Amino acid sequence: MKILVANCGSSSIKYQLFSMTAERVLARGLLERVGDPSARLHHSTDAGRHELDVYAPDHSSGMKIIFRILADPEKGVIKSIYEINGVGHRVVHGGEAMIDSCRVDNRVIAIVRGNFDLAPLHNPPNLAGIEAAMEVLPDVPHVAVFDTAFLSTLPKKAHRYAVPADWYEGHHVRKYGFHGASHKYVALRAAELLGKPADRTNLITCHLGNGCSMTAVAGGKAVDHSMGMTPLEGLIMGTRSGDVDPAVVLYMLGRGLSAQQVDAALNKSSGLLGLSGVSNDMRDLLALSHKDGDPRAADAALAVEMFVYRIVRYIGSYYAILPGLDAVVLTGGIGENSVPVRAMIVDQLARLGARLDEARNGQTVNGRAGQITADGSALGVWVIPTNEELMIARDTKRIIGSVVPRY
Ligand code: AMP
Repeated sequence: MKILVANCGSSSIKYQLFSMTAERVLARGLLERVGDPSARLHHSTDAGRHELDVYAPDHSSGMKIIFRILADPEKGVIKSIYEINGVGHRVVHGGEAMIDSCRVDNRVIAIVRGNFDLAPLHNPPNLAGIEAAMEVLPDVPHVAVFDTAFLSTLPKKAHRYAVPADWYEGHHVRKYGFHGASHKYVALRAAELLGKPADRTNLITCHLGNGCSMTAVAGGKAVDHSMGMTPLEGLIMGTRSGDVDPAVVLYMLGRGLSAQQVDAALNKSSGLLGLSGVSNDMRDLLALSHKDGDPRAADAALAVEMFVYRIVRYIGSYYAILPGLDAVVLTGGIGENSVPVRAMIVDQLARLGARLDEARNGQTVNGRAGQITADGSALGVWVIPTNEELMIARDTKRIIGSVVPRY
């Protein structure tokens, strides 16, 4: 079985073609600057890498270019696009209706469209990608895999905000959560590595990349999560503030900023970038924080310290609400690679019984999975590289094989 996974952003399409027999990636690529005269396709297979200037004025033409190269006699990996058995589409917002991945039909399309307000930057291009791929392969099942679906099990006490009830009832204001495919993938993988059935595993999964989120998982199900109605809530991120007093927004509006300026400030110039004034990249900040004599070193160090502090604070609160804790899981660019940040997190979890194994921490990089705490540590901290595309491919295969609608 071959499954194509597509992730459409406003000006890009990422894709991976999987052979599901051994869950192997046959081809992967990125079409960037869709809608711009300088659109470019980066396509790679086991046989080589290709960089091509292409004409992709919209998602529909972009998707056709991708299907064409997949079946190209020289650069492709399949003889015909009809070898593709299903297409899995990443969709950011499924709202309350979508509690699982789901085969795309008119109702699902209406739900994705109905959530444009909640995810104005993501759902419209996600839907454009679905429609473009369905145009090329109308007789193949298409599956929407929602970033929010894994978080749909959050109980009311975790997902409601204490605001007037009609904000929820009339305006859908609640916590939805994001990064669902990543949290689900690492939660399942953690259960496997721990040798426990997934539905009896209690975890705190931390996706620490440019976007950061954390999920409390009880018996394999998400019971709390750090992102909110939008991805802005929760942890400190590359350029997003995470939690701030909502009155700060009103105060800054009163100081003369427009709503758009406050939105841009909180989403694009806050977080590690806002605190350091230099970079949203953890590598830059770690390097800078150790530069003697550099006047920016103290701010960079503070950004790292606050990043870790917020994570530890969330872990503490999730520890308190979970029925038990089998492991803390770190993933995403920082979780998978940043040895010093991981060391800081584990050191600050000493009161919960975590003891760092420095050698393990140093070795568990470059896509390796493993425990970074010492044997006998009362709390285990694991690094598990995420694989959202594979999770989408697996979900697509599962949904194609089932007959029950998932909404
Ligand atoms: P992601 O969004 O998951 O691709 O993660 C991207 C972020 O991971 C970057 O912004 C970096 O801050 C961080 N990152 C990647 N590699 C490293 C590393 N070796 N050390 C520290 N941070 C890293």
